[in-house]
Amino acid sequence: MRSMPTDAHIGAKFVVDRIVDMIRGAMRDAAREGALSDDAWVGIGLGSPGPLDRETGTVLETPNLGWRNFPLRDLIANSIGLPAALDNDANAATLGEWWQGAARGVDNVLGVTLGTGIGGGLVLNGEVYHGASDVAGEIGHTTIDSNGRKCACGNYGCLEAYASGPAIAARAVEGLHAGAPSLLPDLVDGDVDRITAAHVSEAIIAGDTYAAEVMRDTAKFLGIGVANLVNILNPEMIVISGGVTRAGDHLFGPLRSEVRKRAFKVASDACKIVPSDLGDTAGVIGAAATYHVARIGPL
Ligand SMILES: [Zn+2]
Repeated sequence: MRSMPTDAHIGAKFVVDRIVDMIRGAMRDAAREGALSDDAWVGIGLGSPGPLDRETGTVLETPNLGWRNFPLRDLIANSIGLPAALDNDANAATLGEWWQGAARGVDNVLGVTLGTGIGGGLVLNGEVYHGASDVAGEIGHTTIDSNGRKCACGNYGCLEAYASGPAIAARAVEGLHAGAPSLLPDLVDGDVDRITAAHVSEAIIAGDTYAAEVMRDTAKFLGIGVANLVNILNPEMIVISGGVTRAGDHLFGPLRSEVRKRAFKVASDACKIVPSDLGDTAGVIGAAATYHVARIGPL
């Protein structure tokens, strides 16, 4: 797999150029290794932050990238000379886990990606559920506190404002400013503004009780959002992905118990909460699956 940083500040056109370069590079590598010839390629699957319009292949708005009404699908299809299909990145990741990963053979699954934001995707009865205007599954922007923290989407109290990577770091730093004893400042040479969610995981592994507490709170917030979805959808599985899952049982233990506490017993008993199998490749594998479903047929 190839990857490059998004670098939102370089502008949408340059992000597209990078994606096109990476697709061409992957095609060249496959040809060189004799894996696939140029005429074997049928199309391109794309996963992007949303909300977006699958019909027109347009990304409507991305708070974290600053795109607006951006015709991503056709720009890439025209540059490469192959048809393309576009879906939300978290939908693609969930479809990837359902097709090839942790949720193989599971009919109803909720995927939650913890990263810069919190993405969510739903596979219901073996198909991605898109809703009326392709925005279904946005668990990151469900409200868990009516008077809560400000979210990048403009709302207050969204789950993303508590349990995304930057939100975990922000809560950790607030506690440090309030005087909590911790190893965290040592990991950033005392410059606490540089603390990230990865540092919190690192401190937990080093035995830091404050960092473990920050993660326990994260799991509880996440558990509130997940329990709501468990009661609404009664899924068989919830797949959690993203760097934060490196915290292992420090995340999954309190997450599972919070969901058990809040959701109906029959619903939480039926639902496994598991880490992703495919990690960062879930979205890539799922994007290929998205193309297949959109242009060729069911998987
Ligand atoms: Zn929000």
